[in-house]
Amino acid sequence: MTETEERTGPPETLIEPIDMSKLDPKFRKEIHSMPNAEELSACFACTTCTAACPIANQWNYKPHQLIRMILLGMREEVLSSKEIWECLTCFQCQERCPQKVKVTDIFFDCKNLAAEEGIIPPNVLALGKSLIEKGQLYEVLNDWEREDLDLEAEVPGLNTDTIKEILRGTRTGRLVGGEK
Ligand code: SF4
Ligand code: SF4
Repeated sequence: MTETEERTGPPETLIEPIDMSKLDPKFRKEIHSMPNAEELSACFACTTCTAACPIANQWNYKPHQLIRMILLGMREEVLSSKEIWECLTCFQCQERCPQKVKVTDIFFDCKNLAAEEGIIPPNVLALGKSLIEKGQLYEVLNDWEREDLDLEAEVPGLNTDTIKEILRGTRTGRLVGGEK
């Protein structure tokens, strides 16, 4: 490939042309019906959210593009995107948005909608199942650091039965358990 050909190639982040027949005009209303979207329509695509995002350079769809996709009704693309799940929930985008769009919270709404439709990445699903089964995300192990911290060698038993019971009754419990 010559130097000229390299320069004429599309930028890696260019998104696919929009398929108008797949747009869902109800998607915008669906997000609007949730408590975080009051200012969604005020987005003027300034890209400040993307500039603030520490992970956007790894994403195909940037935060401002995802917001635009919601406004356009690109339901399928948004709910099946890996980006909404990879969001670090650092709130940098939301804090800096000049239009007070709750970008991070809207991505939470998208994740909830996706989960309701069974679109949950395997690693998130595994984490959720582990949480429901064990009642805690991480087990505290016996190790040498306990001695350094003057703690008893054995980790005292932790009863997570009540937590597990509560979690099973939550929406998370229902979704990771495979119920609709
Ligand atoms: S910072 Fe706010 S107004 Fe600007 S593109 Fe992002 S969501 Fe839209
Ligand atoms: S909350 Fe998510 S989308 Fe917003 S800046 Fe942080 S990682 Fe990026």
